[in-house]
Amino acid sequence: PKRHIKARIFLPHLVASMEEVEQTYIMIKPDGVQRGLVGEIISRFEKKGFKLTGLKLFQCPKELAEEHYKDLQSKPFFPKLIDYITSGPVVCMGWEGVGVVASARKLIGATNPLNAEPGTIRGDFAVQTGRNVVHGSDSPDNGKREIGLWFKEGELCAWTAVQEPWLVE
Ligand code: ADP
Repeated sequence: PKRHIKARIFLPHLVASMEEVEQTYIMIKPDGVQRGLVGEIISRFEKKGFKLTGLKLFQCPKELAEEHYKDLQSKPFFPKLIDYITSGPVVCMGWEGVGVVASARKLIGATNPLNAEPGTIRGDFAVQTGRNVVHGSDSPDNGKREIGLWFKEGELCAWTAVQEPWLVE
């Protein structure tokens, strides 16, 4: 009789992609800066174990805000969104880590802060979609695109954090 051998399913490409080091663009929006939340927000990404690769306080010109949010161009709230993002300085950040893109979105919470879980940045510090304190890239490709958009060459640092062996085995 034929022996049925149970196939062991192993998908190394999936494992590899889950463990890929990614880059994400995180931005503290003008309301986050005005409300004194800069330290608190940076702390959450630092404590989680991600690595900061770029950081600056920056007054965003209208053209850059429009380019950053170009996928939302046709939305009725687009002009208000551009006014909001350019209404005062923002804090631009690059963060690096395994799975950082999706993890940062979880730390940030839902777009509408009233739907964001307590413990997330928006869940803890905001009440309205139009003032939701922080931005995070929604895919690894957009992470790269947005870091390229907001930072010039020479503004980013590749460095080794001494805590790395204590974060990843
Ligand atoms: P997220 O920032 O969570 O990725 P979106 O990409 O859908 O969310 O939207 C980008 C930003 O546009 C939001 O963070 C918010 O600042 C703004 N926005 C989205 N929807 C609305 C809305 N209905 N009214 C006002 N602003 C909005």
